[in-house]
Amino acid sequence: MPGTVKNGVKRRGSRVETVIEHGRATVETALEHGRATVEDVLHHGRAAVESALLHGRATVETAIEHGRATMKAAILHGREDIRIEHVPVPEAGSGELVVEVGAALTCGTDLKVFRRGYHARMIVPPALFGHELAGTVVQAGKGVTKFRPGDRVVALNSAPCGQCYFCRRDQENLCDDLMFNNGAYAEYIRIPSRIVAKNTLRVPDHVPLEHAALTEPLACAVHGFEDSRPHPGDTVAVIGGGPLGLMILHVAALAGCEVIAIVRHDGQAEAAKLLGAAHVVQTRNIRQAIQMTRALTPSDRGVDIAIEAVGVPEAWQEAVELVRKGGAVNFFGGCAVNTHVALDTNKIHYSDFTLRATFHHTPAICRRALDLIAGGRFQAGAFITGHAHLYELNRVFEKLMNRSSEIKTAIVP
Ligand SMILES: [Zn+2]
Ligand SMILES: [Zn+2]
Repeated sequence: MPGTVKNGVKRRGSRVETVIEHGRATVETALEHGRATVEDVLHHGRAAVESALLHGRATVETAIEHGRATMKAAILHGREDIRIEHVPVPEAGSGELVVEVGAALTCGTDLKVFRRGYHARMIVPPALFGHELAGTVVQAGKGVTKFRPGDRVVALNSAPCGQCYFCRRDQENLCDDLMFNNGAYAEYIRIPSRIVAKNTLRVPDHVPLEHAALTEPLACAVHGFEDSRPHPGDTVAVIGGGPLGLMILHVAALAGCEVIAIVRHDGQAEAAKLLGAAHVVQTRNIRQAIQMTRALTPSDRGVDIAIEAVGVPEAWQEAVELVRKGGAVNFFGGCAVNTHVALDTNKIHYSDFTLRATFHHTPAICRRALDLIAGGRFQAGAFITGHAHLYELNRVFEKLMNRSSEIKTAIVP
């Protein structure tokens, strides 16, 4: 990018020279007062910097890379706009932890946020981004007794208040004051005290950090499955071959259910089989999916449980068409705001359907999810289909948007 480089150097030249001439003390000043300057040059014209800085290069790099005053982190600025920036390394306040991120996993929710540029409940840009992570504690704030530097932990993306009406009724997933934390796509992340106290778990030595980072989505999957009140031997149809659909079907198969996976893409069909689906229905046609699924049950009566894991109204309607009399439907996938579905009230009533819509997780379920990962039967490795550096994050999300066969990519800072 010679053009960018020249402009960058011309525009910022005087500052860069200052940095070179006066050395490190200046770098700090430059970082503080003119951070965009040094960063622009480094990011957009790195090759140029090499010649421009020539002798001063080591200075700048030392300050940035080894001074640890700043770290690399992904900042979400809006729709399809993630920038890797240098931001101050967080410090642990009272009750808090700073965790060096070992692995952060991409997630369907992050993809939604990347596409839409915001998430009403979880994140308002510009903001640190990413929420599935595991890593190593590097700093423990005042009053933290459960953890110390060196501990390998998985810190969940949220924690309930423990005091509201819903928390007191063991429905912490619905807490009125659910606190969310973002910033997993970074070298370090600060874990707020409430999450340290309620939803940070020690990772057993034999569990790789990138597997432990699956705790959050797996907790959602376990919650959705258990909430559907399954019995061993039940026939369970799972609509959707995304990461959550695949997790739910794997959990259901491990629990002894006969799973029918309803997917669209070849990669999803393969993954579904690998993860224990007894049958795979692969079609883009909803009517066909319903027929084929019912045909897999005695006298076409329908499945015992249908779990929708796509998050579009058509799939919610499809789910209701799959179950037998007395069966249960779980509308697990969250649709966009202001979407509605039309359901056959007569059928729902006279067939005595149970309809549920499970959201999020609770601290108890998160613990069970990590136990499942540590137990060895859960094939954690199958869910991580790629690795990428933080700098490649935009490309990773673009790829995920194009429905590649990737399930989750581990982002290693
Ligand atoms: Zn997630
Ligand atoms: Zn609460």
